[in-house]
Amino acid sequence: MSESKDVAAIVDDLTTTDVGGRDTIGPIADAARERQGGAPSMQAAERLDEAVDPGDTVLVLTGFLIPPSMVQETDGPLGAVSVARAVDRALDANPVVACEPAAVDVCEAAATAGELGVLDREAAAGSRQTVSVEAFPADRAEAREYVADLLSAVDPAAVVAVEKAAPNEAGVYHNMAGYDVTEQTAKVDELYRRLPADVPTVAVGDAGNEVGMGLVQETVEDEIQYGAECQCGCEAGIAADIETNLLVPATVSNWGGHAVAACLGHVTGTPVLHGPDVERRMLVEASMAGGIDGIAGGTTAGCDGMAPEAHESMLRLIREVFGSSVHTRGGELGR
Ligand SMILES: [Zn+2]
Repeated sequence: MSESKDVAAIVDDLTTTDVGGRDTIGPIADAARERQGGAPSMQAAERLDEAVDPGDTVLVLTGFLIPPSMVQETDGPLGAVSVARAVDRALDANPVVACEPAAVDVCEAAATAGELGVLDREAAAGSRQTVSVEAFPADRAEAREYVADLLSAVDPAAVVAVEKAAPNEAGVYHNMAGYDVTEQTAKVDELYRRLPADVPTVAVGDAGNEVGMGLVQETVEDEIQYGAECQCGCEAGIAADIETNLLVPATVSNWGGHAVAACLGHVTGTPVLHGPDVERRMLVEASMAGGIDGIAGGTTAGCDGMAPEAHESMLRLIREVFGSSVHTRGGELGR
């Protein structure tokens, strides 16, 4: 096993550890490993590094609105910003973040706190350390139009989804409690249906109802609560029906985005992953923009039922893994 694979395996162990005890990530990560091999975050980084040239555009999708108020959660935007930072700093390309109209404020707040200036698409493409944040329509006809315009205007070199709500096989979008959230959710199936087959797609998810979970659909149906039987009456369950080239399972989807960013830093030799201080700032700013903890509720700067400190700690650990690999190399040279 190469050193790069060792590092990747450790990072994926870390980001799939069930810290919050939600009991969903184990079966999903096992099934994904069986289907696509280990270390998906490094596989994703290698695929992106190969596909994306300087100046290209990479589309980063996120957004999950939580009922009953349909407010954006704090999981998703931070991982999307991580990936966007890596696209900007490690690949010298242009990230475009697209999310539900109701999630734009939270994503913009996370981006600014994550050291990316928020500009419109054209202005962001002309400068570094920037991102554009766009509303991906929830209305189907508008979504179709948005996708057509987007594909002709920017011709994305890759699409990365982080905690992006996806429909089941009946076309219904669900939250993890099994309720129908279709009306307010971005119709990203319109994008995946029209995306040219040669555009690489990566997705990060944690519960089974996100883009990318099509890879492990049966496992989600069998193992995850409401996987096969939802509470909305569509009778098709929450198991998402959109498959991507690679699925990066993570206990918290943000962590999967951070893992992909860290691996992109590793493969390009440009460390880009932010530190725990920036993670805290992103959580606080996303929360102040109205983002809520999707499990515990409330604008507490928590995420997926865990306090900010847990997320800061994950950043410390991921960074330590990549830092340690440098120490290891030094030790070998000294022998
Ligand atoms: Zn349903």
